[in-house]
Amino acid sequence: MVAGLSEVLSPSQVLAGSATHRTYDCDAYTVDRSAPTCVVLPESTEEVQAIVRWCNESSVPFTPRGAGTGLSGGAMPALGGVVVSTKKMSRILEVDLPNRCLLAQAGAVNIRLSQAAAPAGLHFAPDPSSQTVSTLGGNINENSGGPHTLKYGVTAQHVLQATMVGCSGEIVVLGSRVANGPESSLLSLIVGSEGTLGIVTEAWVRLTPLPKHVATALVAFPDSSSATQAVVAILEEGVVPAALEMMDFNIMQALRTAFGLEFPEEAGALLLVECDGEEPVNDELDSVLAVCRASGAIDVRVAQDEEERAKLWTARKKGIGAMGRLAPTIVTHDGVIPRTRLPEMLAYVYEKASEIGVGVANLFHAGDGNLHPCFYFDDRVPGTIEKVVAAGEEILRKCLELGGSVTGEHGIGVEKAGVWGHSLSPADRDLQMAVRDVFGVSGLCNPCKVLPDQKGCVEHVKRWRGAAT
Ligand SMILES: Cc1cc2nc3c(=O)[nH]c(=O)nc-3n(C[C@H](O)[C@H](O)[C@H](O)COP(=O)(O)OP(=O)(O)OC[C@H]3O[C@@H](n4cnc5c(N)ncnc54)[C@H](O)[C@@H]3O)c2cc1C
Repeated sequence: MVAGLSEVLSPSQVLAGSATHRTYDCDAYTVDRSAPTCVVLPESTEEVQAIVRWCNESSVPFTPRGAGTGLSGGAMPALGGVVVSTKKMSRILEVDLPNRCLLAQAGAVNIRLSQAAAPAGLHFAPDPSSQTVSTLGGNINENSGGPHTLKYGVTAQHVLQATMVGCSGEIVVLGSRVANGPESSLLSLIVGSEGTLGIVTEAWVRLTPLPKHVATALVAFPDSSSATQAVVAILEEGVVPAALEMMDFNIMQALRTAFGLEFPEEAGALLLVECDGEEPVNDELDSVLAVCRASGAIDVRVAQDEEERAKLWTARKKGIGAMGRLAPTIVTHDGVIPRTRLPEMLAYVYEKASEIGVGVANLFHAGDGNLHPCFYFDDRVPGTIEKVVAAGEEILRKCLELGGSVTGEHGIGVEKAGVWGHSLSPADRDLQMAVRDVFGVSGLCNPCKVLPDQKGCVEHVKRWRGAAT
C-alpha cells in the first residue's frame, strides 16, 4: 500500500509505521480505536483525486481527516486502510472582500479564516470551541456549531460552495458563490455528511461583519437548576443573546485547579452571556441580567474592556482542557433537547453518572439546548468504558424522549450510529441510504460511519472498543 501510494504521490507524503498508527487510530473520541495502514498528505484536489482512484482500484478503504478533534469517532479509520489527511491543504486561496466571501482549502484552521478577514471588519461566524485547531473541512462535514450558534447559526448557513472528490474519484463543485444559488440544496447534503460522501478539498464561505458593539457578562448561580431556568426565562423575554453558555460546578472546580481561576465560593453554576450588535447593546445585556437576578443569580461580572472580556471567556474556552486535571479519560457526550427541558435533562445526567460511579461535568451551549455531559474516569478500570458508553446511550434516548435529537453538533460517527440508526423509521432510513446511492457510496469511503451498512461493521465494534488498553 505504501509503495503504491508513494508512486501516486511522493514518498514524503505517505506516512506509515507504529508512531503513525498510534497517532491516527482515533479522534478526540478515544473510546474506539482502529489504526490505518498508512496516512497520506495530499496538497491539492488533483492529488486527492489520484488517491481516491488508487483506493478504488485497489479496494482499500479511505477515511478523510482534518485536525482529528471530532468527538464521535468520524475520523477513525474503522476498517484500516488509508487516512487522507488535509494537513497540507491549509491555504487561504482568495479573499473576496466586495462580495464578502473567502475561498480556503479544506485543511485551513477555522480561526485563520477569521484572522484573514479581520482587517476588513469581517469574520467567519461558525466558532466551534476547537476553532484554534479544527479545520474548515471538519467543520463542514460535522456541520459544526459553537458558542455563537444561537445568533449566527451553524456552519451550513455560512458555506456557499464546496469542491469535493466523490467516492469514486470524480471532482464535483456543489453550491454557488452567490448566496442562495440554485444548487444550494445539493451542497446542504454534503454539509454534515461526516466524510461519507467524499472528500471536500476547498470551499467558498460567507464572511459576516464583526459586531461593532459587544457586551459580555459572567453570572454565577447557586446551582445548575437555577442557571438553566434562567436560560429559559431569558429566551422567553424575546432577547436572543449572541452566546449563552453554561458551566457547572465540576467545570468550575477543574478551572480552579488547572488555571487558578476564582469564582464566588457559593456558586454552583455559571452562565456566560454575550450580546452584540451594530448599535450599543448595554440595554439588551441589562435586560438579560435582570432576568438572571430574578432567577436567583448571586454574582454578576460585566467585562469593562476587551481584556476583561477575554478573561471571562477563559472560563468557557479552557473548560475542557482543564478537565484533564480531574481524571485521565474524558468522554464528551452530545445531544440536543428543547431548551425548556434543560433542568429536567441535567438532573437525569447527574443521576446517570452517580449510578455508574463516574464524575460528570457539564459545559455547553445552553441557549441552543445543546448539552455536553463530559464523563471523567479512569479507562484502565475494567468495565468502566462499557458503563460510560451505556450511560451515554441512555442519555441520548432521553434526548429523543424529550423531543430532541442524538446530536447537537458532534455528529454520529461510530459513537452514535447504533442509537441513531434505531431512532429512524424504515422509510427515513431508506431515504438516507438512497441519498448515499446518489453519491455513489461504495463502502470504501469512510466505512461504518453514520449508517453502518456493511455487515462487518457491527462485528468490528468489539475490536475497536478498548483497543487503547
Ligand atoms: C475541546 C473541543 C471543543 C469542541 N467544541 C466544539 C464546538 O463548540 N462545536 C462543535 O460543533 N464541535 C466542537 N468540537 C468537535 C470538533 O472540533 C468539530 O466537530 C470539528 O468541526 C472537527 O474538525 P476537525 O478538523 O478536527 O475534523 P476531524 O475530527 O478530523 O473530522 C471530523 C469528520 O469530518 C470528516 N472530514 C474531515 N475533513 C474532511 C474533508 N476535507 N472532507 C470530507 N470529510 C472530512 C472526517 O472523516 C470526520 O468524519 C470540539 C472538540 C474538542 C476536542
